[in-house]
Amino acid sequence: MENLFWSRTSRLKMLKNEARSITLTNRIISYTLIRRNRKTVGLRINRDGLTVRVPLQATISSIERVLQSKAGWVIGNLDAWKEKKIIQPEWCLHSTFWLLGDPYRLTLTESEKLRMVPQTNKAGPAQDMSSSLVALTPDQIEQFVMAWYRKQAMMHMSERVAFYAGKLGVPLPKLRLSSARTRWGSCSSHGTVCLNWRLIQLPLALVDYVVAHELSHLVEMNHSAAFWKVVERIYPDYRQAQMALRKIG
Ligand SMILES: [Zn+2]
Repeated sequence: MENLFWSRTSRLKMLKNEARSITLTNRIISYTLIRRNRKTVGLRINRDGLTVRVPLQATISSIERVLQSKAGWVIGNLDAWKEKKIIQPEWCLHSTFWLLGDPYRLTLTESEKLRMVPQTNKAGPAQDMSSSLVALTPDQIEQFVMAWYRKQAMMHMSERVAFYAGKLGVPLPKLRLSSARTRWGSCSSHGTVCLNWRLIQLPLALVDYVVAHELSHLVEMNHSAAFWKVVERIYPDYRQAQMALRKIG
C-alpha cells in the first residue's frame, strides 16, 4: 500500500508543469516544462511563449542540450511572435472575452474582418492565425473589442435599467458608461446612472444587482435600512449578489 501511495504522489509531481529558464545565445529564455508519457522532446512556441514537452524521466541536462541545439529556431520564432505584436496577452486574436458570463472568442471572418463568436458555438473551427496575412496590432484589436463591449453594455444595460425603473416606479434615468477602476456603479441626484462597462463581462444576475442597487438610490440617496428594503423589494437575492461581487473584487 505504502509503495503504491508514493509512486502515485511522485508521479503526480512529475506531471506538474514547471516554469524554467535557460540562456540561449546570451538571452534568458523562460519556458514551461511539461513531462508526459512520450518518447521525444517537443518544442512549441505560441503567444504564451515556449513550451517544452519531454518524456517523464528526461533529465534537465538532456533537455537543455536539445534546447541549445535548437537555439536558432527558438529565438527566431519567439522574435517573430513579438514582431507580430500578437503576444500581447489580452488584445490578441483568439483571446477569450467574457460577455454576461459567457466566453466569446475573437476571430477573423473569411473576408478577414474581426468578429466575436460565442465559444460554445461549434459551427466553425478557429482559423489558424499564423496563416493569416492580416497583421493586426494590439491597438486595433483593443479598439474593436472595446467598441464591441460598449455597444453590448449600452444595449443590455439600458434594457435592465428600464426594467428595474419600471419595477421601482421611477422615471427612466439617463445611463452613462464609466471605466472607473474601483466601483461598479454610481447614481447622481439628477437621475443619471453610471455603470462600469466591465460589469457587462459578468453574469446577468450580477449586472442586475448593480442596476437595482443604483436605481434604488433614486428613492433613497444613502445606504440606510430603508435603502436596503427598497433594493430587496426589486432584487430579493441581493445578499448573494453582493457576496459574489465582493469575491470578484
Ligand atoms: Zn450604493
